[in-house]
Amino acid sequence: MIIHLKNSVADSDIAKIAEDLKAFHIKKPDYHVLVTPSAMQEVPAQYESLVEESFVFPNDMQLSSADYFNATREININETKIGGDTNNTMVIAGPCSVESEEQITQSAELMKELGIGTLRAGCYKPRTSPYTFQGMGIEGLKLLDKMRSKYGLNIITEVRDTTHVDEVLDYADIVQIGAKAMYDQGILRRCGQARKPILLKRGFGTNLQEFVQAAEFILSGGNDEVILCERGIRTFETKTRFTLDLCGVAYLKEHTNLPIILDPSHAMGYRYGVPDLARACTAMGVEGLLIEVHPDPSVAKSDAAQQLNHDTFRDL
Ligand code: PEP
Ligand code: MN
Repeated sequence: MIIHLKNSVADSDIAKIAEDLKAFHIKKPDYHVLVTPSAMQEVPAQYESLVEESFVFPNDMQLSSADYFNATREININETKIGGDTNNTMVIAGPCSVESEEQITQSAELMKELGIGTLRAGCYKPRTSPYTFQGMGIEGLKLLDKMRSKYGLNIITEVRDTTHVDEVLDYADIVQIGAKAMYDQGILRRCGQARKPILLKRGFGTNLQEFVQAAEFILSGGNDEVILCERGIRTFETKTRFTLDLCGVAYLKEHTNLPIILDPSHAMGYRYGVPDLARACTAMGVEGLLIEVHPDPSVAKSDAAQQLNHDTFRDL
């Protein structure tokens, strides 16, 4: 249940009520929100007089629910807005990983050339093998920082585990939590304390309820800037890397209030399918697209098969 308390309730009382109701307390500029477990379906009689408004839910999809806020949240990424009443499809692009100054400079110049304001590249890569390239770490973050200052781009980069979550929060304009990190509660809770937009990718074995509940970990911490990213789930099909769950996206659009970004690159796994899929994703009316593009995909250190080259990306 979500409870909006009346302004007149004293701060000291709110803490006691929150403890009593096992609720998260989110302080807004001009009101207080308590979020209790969804099993609570009625305001206890002793608190009724303190409540301005309350909302009940059939399950723990609460702050993210369209039954709480029946529109897409507006998220500000510096000067760029997505969601709300904007009709933007934000394109987020860049190589899978930062690999060198030369490579990320070429990527940043492509974004600048095409008027794309957001560069995305990973520095802490959640690889499936410990023997492959693991990312440049802090050196990569510094290169991204340089690209931001030189080209005026917003930067998205991912956090792989809690050892570097603060570092990533310092350097990124949007923090990406990847498909494998999606269950890391240390990351989710830390991002809940942050005041930066978070791009939360769906795990490839994660159902929609679990996905949205991962977002609730961030929202209940008081960070209301969460963007969901569908990037493909694992099915019986092996001809493509994953299966892009557009039915799931329709569900999320209908039942949640969170902006959605679609990632056809990781879903498909092969560059030949990415342009068609990107068009299909745009037709879904989502808030953004995430596309991997590399100056020379044949030498990419991660996700080589799915990255577009610059010319194909320009055409798209
Ligand atoms: C990535 O975005 O490069 C990545 C590793 O994606 P995912 O977490 O979706 O596998
Ligand atoms: Mn990748």
